[in-house]
Amino acid sequence: MNIKDHIRGVPDFPKPGILFYDISTLLAHPDAWQVAMGRLAREVRKFQPDVLAGIESRGFLVAAPLALKLGCGFVMLRKKGKLPGKTIRHDYALEYGTDTIEIQENAVEPGSRVVVLDDLLATGGTLAASIELLRKIGAHVTGAASIIELNFLPGRQRLKELDVPFTSLAAYD
Ligand code: 5GP
Repeated sequence: MNIKDHIRGVPDFPKPGILFYDISTLLAHPDAWQVAMGRLAREVRKFQPDVLAGIESRGFLVAAPLALKLGCGFVMLRKKGKLPGKTIRHDYALEYGTDTIEIQENAVEPGSRVVVLDDLLATGGTLAASIELLRKIGAHVTGAASIIELNFLPGRQRLKELDVPFTSLAAYD
């Protein structure tokens, strides 16, 4: 089964000139989604995680079923102001302006082995910020993974610089 057969490219979304890779079509096909999760589980298991961290919001769709499959805990990395209780935050630069992600203060035991999941790796800014936030709370980030990666952007290099191994199921040139 080719995962790419179930990923839809939407031209000019969210802005003119951008080809958006939409995983809705993969999620809508349970057999294909099952295969995708099975393949990703095999790869992510190699990072020997205690906990999987999902990045809001499509990263939740990937991390939560994988955590069940692997018998790991699941934690949420969310946009500012969404998580109750005490949180730790990390600000990071976007193309224009900045953004902030948060995690609950005691979501991860210091020293826990954490793998971060998202649906897609582009410039790597989102995953890099997530790794930095997890490190702030003492997690040992052993890997990162996504369904899709864009080879023409420097995401993989960015993660390499942070010394975090990365894997994906479908790469686009
Ligand atoms: P980065 O921070 O690596 O530049 O961008 C990755 C983030 O943007 C991910 O959280 C991902 O959900 C979102 N993203 C950017 N482009 C796409 C796309 O073409 N398809 C999907 N599904 N998400 C995208």
